Amino acid sequence: MVRTFPPRITLREVGLRDGLQAEAATLDLSAKLRLYQALVRAGQTRIEATSFVSARAIPQLADAAAFLAAIGPHPEVQISALVPNLTGAERAVAAGVDEVTVFLSASETHNRHNVRRSVAESLAQAEVVAGAPATSSVVRSAVIATAFACPYEGPQDPQKVADLARRLREMGYAPILFGDTIGAANPAMVSRLLEATERHLPVREIGLHFHNTRGAALANILVGLEHGVTLFDASIGGMGGCPYAPGATGNVASEDVVAMVEGMGVATQIDLTLLIEAAALAQELVGRELPSACLKAFDLGEGTWAAYAH
Ligand code: ZN
Repeated sequence: MVRTFPPRITLREVGLRDGLQAEAATLDLSAKLRLYQALVRAGQTRIEATSFVSARAIPQLADAAAFLAAIGPHPEVQISALVPNLTGAERAVAAGVDEVTVFLSASETHNRHNVRRSVAESLAQAEVVAGAPATSSVVRSAVIATAFACPYEGPQDPQKVADLARRLREMGYAPILFGDTIGAANPAMVSRLLEATERHLPVREIGLHFHNTRGAALANILVGLEHGVTLFDASIGGMGGCPYAPGATGNVASEDVVAMVEGMGVATQIDLTLLIEAAALAQELVGRELPSACLKAFDLGEGTWAAYAH
């Protein structure tokens, strides 16, 4: 079997949002700024910087507007924020984001637990956000959480998820990302969902968001690459997960994705050594050992990566 992969992909760095919101430590603004700058120095061009959800629910991201103000002009970086509703979207756009990301769960039960709304109500909300004048000048993307499996309902029907993606696309959302919120997807599930989706939207408008809870994130990304997917969410150092659940891990680590795909000849335009430096900084800032494989494998001081490069 001859496999072909896209010549290049884009990483959407979600460590500052999906990662930090799950960390026990709350970083102050200057620490977040240092991490952001390290990510940009490494060549990251698409960064989910924060979310505009309730500060009470997610105190780690309560400084969303102040953080975006501190970032200032960012011509080389497309900055996004996760938004739960129109008010959040308006605040995000006013704060200077280039992209707003709405979210809903494929699973009815998870959606109710997460946002206390039915999936239909979340879709109606997404339609309001997409149609609002405030969001007409920015990229509108959407994440379908629990797209593969739900902690309450189990595996999700790919046709149902593909149908949700189609409806979001009709509202004007692109890209649409499939979130493996609990890290329960496997390569067969990814393949089935992409096959169900390919009939409804072009692969260039599909993104994948994997958590590495069961260690399958890179295998799942490989399946995405085989289907021609070119947008992947990842978190620096593999930050995230739940600090109160021993063994739970976060998003797939950005540097682990870059190391794998660059080795396959798929370009990311990201400097792996600088990215591992950013992961080391993230580890120092959150004050716990991060799950990243590259962070453990490559001793920056010895330049070990250079020896492995070719
Ligand atoms: Zn996530």
